[in-house]
Amino acid sequence: SGARISIVEKRHVEQDSNKNSWEYVEVFAAALSWDDILHYDDAYDWRSAVDALLMRAAEDVPDIMARVKAVCVSGTSATCLLLERGTLDVSRVARMYNFDVLGNSDSGKEEGTKKKGKSGKGELENPAERVMKLIEDYVPEKHTARATTGSLAKLLLWNEEESLVDDEGFVREMLCHQSDYISMSLMHGGMEQDEECFVTSDWHNSLKLGYDVEHLSYPEWMLKLLKEGAKISSPKDVLPSKVVSPGEPMGLISPIVAMKYGLPTDAVLVGGTTDSNAAFFAAAGARPEFGQAVTSLGSTVALKQLSKSFVEDASRGVYSHRFPRFGSGGKADEVEEAWLIGGASNVGCAVLRQEGFSNEELESLSSEIDPNTDSPLSYYPLTKKGERFPIADSEKTPVLDPKPEDRKEYLHGILQAIGDVERDGYRILGELGARPSRPTEVLTCGGGSKNDMWTAMRERRLRDICNGDQRIVVKKALNTEASYGAALLAAASFE
Ligand code: ADP
Repeated sequence: SGARISIVEKRHVEQDSNKNSWEYVEVFAAALSWDDILHYDDAYDWRSAVDALLMRAAEDVPDIMARVKAVCVSGTSATCLLLERGTLDVSRVARMYNFDVLGNSDSGKEEGTKKKGKSGKGELENPAERVMKLIEDYVPEKHTARATTGSLAKLLLWNEEESLVDDEGFVREMLCHQSDYISMSLMHGGMEQDEECFVTSDWHNSLKLGYDVEHLSYPEWMLKLLKEGAKISSPKDVLPSKVVSPGEPMGLISPIVAMKYGLPTDAVLVGGTTDSNAAFFAAAGARPEFGQAVTSLGSTVALKQLSKSFVEDASRGVYSHRFPRFGSGGKADEVEEAWLIGGASNVGCAVLRQEGFSNEELESLSSEIDPNTDSPLSYYPLTKKGERFPIADSEKTPVLDPKPEDRKEYLHGILQAIGDVERDGYRILGELGARPSRPTEVLTCGGGSKNDMWTAMRERRLRDICNGDQRIVVKKALNTEASYGAALLAAASFE
């Protein structure tokens, strides 16, 4: 909902030497809302927002700024832009996370007419249709990068609108994500005239681009798509030139940037992450354990769980982010491979607003519900047709009948049903191969996390699918700020 910075101090805890011997304390935070930032899709305005926040820190806590060791940036996933190759100059305005190649593009709105070429063979005239055809032809079935809101689709659309390659065949532009851009501006800021700036991205931001996080390389199909399909002679030139682990040291911050904000010249910039993964770290801490999970109870329900295994089912929108190597103390080689798996339902708290429950009414009615009793109602509380996870069914319709006279009973039925979607979601993640197959601790964020009665109800019903395992705990997350999570990642990157 804007820009925020967080500074975390890593303190050694003496008494506990075998485990968690560090504690992390937020010592400074500042935020700007989008209303304060001129254009939410203007990368220069993102930079100005970060500048304003760093200036504030430089003025308010100069002594803390002088001790900063590592900086990590998170951004909205799949928000990306094009830069003039080798520079920080924006060549095409950012396409935000929700930009849909099929829905948002002006070119996509035109009718899909066929151009009658000289050969007489029909050629697709509409850029969005050509992108869809390329995706259809080259991107493996069920792959995350097939999404029409993903960064690959956005990149292809830019290229169809105006080639990224000049007449001589040289690549003129390069792709970077929101978080990459801010990281680059901290690494090269003020030095743009003297040095070439190339993009270093990270496993999390690059997942929706198509980067293979299992093999840590750009897959063959992707290079072929760009070369043959999109006619980009040297495909790697348009892609981030390096993709590192979130939290992995990438280089020093620019000396000009260091001087401007009073940061040490040896402060290191580490690989970034996406906002929702950063929020997972904020909730679960710098050293989460396998089985730790975070449920977001906002307008929709989203689940994330740390797993020993990679899990994927694109038909349900389930994918795995590779867990940072540097997330647990800096020694990359000693860290077990781990995956942050997740899925998101269309069901969520939005239905509460739709059914006219104000936040005050939610609080007062909830306090009268007994979390230990079951509601006889069995709803499927969608706001409109179509579900993706735990079941993928575009025809699934909302079920909010029968509707009892009593508002409290109605609310009981809805909260139970949303909670059951969460419970079934974790069950499905387990069936798809999550290890452990059930979450051990579920931290909750979003508007619904304020509701203690609901937390107790969800815990009881979640335990039911785990043979009544009393060790499963559901509670409210203490912190879910993405900037705090990113700061934890930065702090975990050094000893
Ligand atoms: P978003 O996903 O839009 O960012 P939020 O995380 O801000 O959503 O959560 C807002 C939602 O939380 C609203 O749909 C609201 O109905 C719901 N909500 C607010 N208070 C409560 C409560 N006490 N119990 C259950 N749901 C609540």
